[in-house]
Amino acid sequence: MAKIEVRNLSKIFGRRPKPALEMLKEKKSKDEILKETGLTVGVNRATFDVNEAEVFVIMGLSGSGKSTLVRLLNRLIDPTEGQIQIDGDDLAKMNDEQLREVRRKKMSMVFQKFGLFPFRTILQNVEYGLEVQAISKEERHQKAMEALKLVGLEGYEEQYPDQLSGGMQQRVGLARALANDPTVLLMDEAFSALDPLIRKDMQDELLDLQAKMQKTIIFITHDLDEALRIGDRIMIMKDGAVVQIGTPEDILMHPADDYVSRFVEDVD
Ligand code: ADP
Ligand code: MG
Repeated sequence: MAKIEVRNLSKIFGRRPKPALEMLKEKKSKDEILKETGLTVGVNRATFDVNEAEVFVIMGLSGSGKSTLVRLLNRLIDPTEGQIQIDGDDLAKMNDEQLREVRRKKMSMVFQKFGLFPFRTILQNVEYGLEVQAISKEERHQKAMEALKLVGLEGYEEQYPDQLSGGMQQRVGLARALANDPTVLLMDEAFSALDPLIRKDMQDELLDLQAKMQKTIIFITHDLDEALRIGDRIMIMKDGAVVQIGTPEDILMHPADDYVSRFVEDVD
């Protein structure tokens, strides 16, 4: 059984989405659907599995549906149609309490804009991720310290975010996500705002960490270089739809269509 199983998942933005769903089945394009119905296709009948402990990269141009897809995965938004199973449990059938449990224990999210509180210390920022849990202050402190150590930020606990570089701030974001020891880590363009060199360092660090942690990581990027460096498998999206899923070698050697080829040509 795969860790996450997604079947025929669609998200249409706008009221009364039924006609748009029908048009998707007729293979009409996102543009046509927008023109005819005024509805926006976020995700178009996506089907894929994510395996335990793999780095699964979702790649595509801006607007291709990557962020919508991760928001569906942790149910920040509801699908218009389709299924998502995590560890065999159907997300759609869960009540609010079970969903909170999934978000708290199974999935953590790392954002591009770090999402740190400027007036809280690094330690407080990391502890924040644990505040919703019913654990003691001491345990919270200990878990936060462990997470900071994991990302190499020991000694920075009492500093404030703006005293740290972009790369270090993103490590704080990562520590916060890791503090509650999730099994799935969702990273939406987490490194996209970093300078190229720092970005490469962070990619290496994530891979080093992953060798120890063995999380299931869903990593979103619009950059094929980054996807190839860190992905065990890469899923390429266009206009909300899945275009290709494969290993880095598959993607490089056998691009599924012109859209993928164009990414491959840009790789340096
Ligand atoms: P990506 O993350 O790949 O850049 P998004 O998932 O953000 O793409 O967007 C996919 C499509 O869905 C885009 O056409 C975008 O304009 C649209 N979209 C995303 N969120 C909303 C929303 N809340 N309301 C309406 N349209 C949205
Ligand atoms: Mg996005």
